[in-house]
Amino acid sequence: MSERHIVVLGAGLAGSLMAILLGRAGYEVELCERRADPREDRAPEGRSINLALSTRGLYALERAGVLEPVLALATPMRGRMIHDEQGALTFQPYGPLPEHAIHSVSRAELNRLLIAAADQLENVRIRFEHKCVEVDLERPAVTLEHGPSGEPLVAEADAVIGADGAFSALRSVMQRQERFSFEQAYLDHGYKELTIPPGPGGQHRMEPNALHIWPRGGFMMIALPNLDGSFTCTLFWPFEGPHGFAAVSDERKLRQLFESTFPDALALMPTLIEDYFQNRTGSLVTIRCRPWRCEGKALLLGDSAHAVVPFYGQGANAAFEDCALLADAIERHDGRLEQAFAEFETQRKRHVDALSELALANYVEMRDHTASRWFVFRKKLEQLAHFLLPSWYVPLYTMVTFTRIPYGEARRRAARQARVVRWALGSLGVGLAALILGALVWR
Ligand SMILES: Cc1cc2nc3c(=O)[nH]c(=O)nc-3n(C[C@H](O)[C@H](O)[C@H](O)COP(=O)(O)OP(=O)(O)OC[C@H]3O[C@@H](n4cnc5c(N)ncnc54)[C@H](O)[C@@H]3O)c2cc1C
Repeated sequence: MSERHIVVLGAGLAGSLMAILLGRAGYEVELCERRADPREDRAPEGRSINLALSTRGLYALERAGVLEPVLALATPMRGRMIHDEQGALTFQPYGPLPEHAIHSVSRAELNRLLIAAADQLENVRIRFEHKCVEVDLERPAVTLEHGPSGEPLVAEADAVIGADGAFSALRSVMQRQERFSFEQAYLDHGYKELTIPPGPGGQHRMEPNALHIWPRGGFMMIALPNLDGSFTCTLFWPFEGPHGFAAVSDERKLRQLFESTFPDALALMPTLIEDYFQNRTGSLVTIRCRPWRCEGKALLLGDSAHAVVPFYGQGANAAFEDCALLADAIERHDGRLEQAFAEFETQRKRHVDALSELALANYVEMRDHTASRWFVFRKKLEQLAHFLLPSWYVPLYTMVTFTRIPYGEARRRAARQARVVRWALGSLGVGLAALILGALVWR
């Protein structure tokens, strides 16, 4: 191992997992986070978003030796529960097998667990309330600002890994380099967290083992279960327009809109008004950039390299998968970081580009199509084809969510499957038409 000391920026999901993987591989890791230690500050818990963890994320957590405690925090969701405007329910399983489940977990709880696991390693040092304000890519070294005192601190390292999220400080320094490409696109829709509290005795007031969706064409709400019997709901609404955040500006309008569009949910949301007006409206951004690395001295991963919109439930899963792939590459290259970073970027970039497109397309599917009979029929047909020809036909959602087939390959394979199915259906149609015509002529 030639380069031994690594600074990881951001103790979010990717940063803490990367610190665990590097620490376990024997590196000296300095994990720098601008926020205070979230284990001491439990206040934002009720406002934390929930994540759906699936195969890619679970694999990376297992590689880091933390899968079991994470699963103990999670609730399995075996399919989508669709709520129509009258409150009628339809359950759409994710697949026929028990492992076809995704796992709902609070992002804040998961983050606390990963930070605690990193903190247990002797060679991982965590600096909270240290915001990265500058990076010298040549040395490399990072300048940190200590929140309470404002004191600067310079940390030198063999390499800096930027896991500091969609608005990465490391990336903004790399952007000043020549030939750095950067794209940032916001959706016209934002999101807001709401709550369905537990019922009497901590019971869930809806089916706990499902991801609940209220698809309304153009907008939607989802709800994910928590272990304490509550659900974290996320409202995805446009910023503008009659069903938009700007228009719903007082209690009366909010109640009216919920009465007409989410009546069954409204009955379960006693704190709707407070939640809606107190919780901030978040925006949804897609970020693409290139290169992700500066020789063997700096590398971006997770949201800092490729933030995606959340509609495939893959942002954190992809960030975790990044960590496992990078750890593999470092191991393969025997600690030569320049080669490992280069291989990681070359092999990974096109797949997360594919994911960003899939995630955007899935928003339209979730909010506009999941309620339609054609969607339900298509899903059943896909599952039948998968059951009959399991090695040949695998639905795209299954490949993305329940396998580790690289995203771009999953998308290509799904397109090829769709072409063959269209051809088969077309041939069947022509065959049937010929039969009918033959029968008519013969008669
Ligand atoms: C509404 C919503 C729902 C989602 N649902 C899912 C889901 O179901 N499944 C899924 O897989 N993903 C989901 N995601 C995406 C997921 O949350 C992100 O992809 C994931 O958090 C990315 O992890 P990260 O570690 O790269 O970035 P982050 O989690 O953003 O962590 C970055 C860390 O860096 C710190 N930081 C930032 N700047 C600095 C600085 N200058 N110096 C030091 N520290 C800094 C931050 O404080 C933070 O702790 C969802 C996202 C949203 C918004």
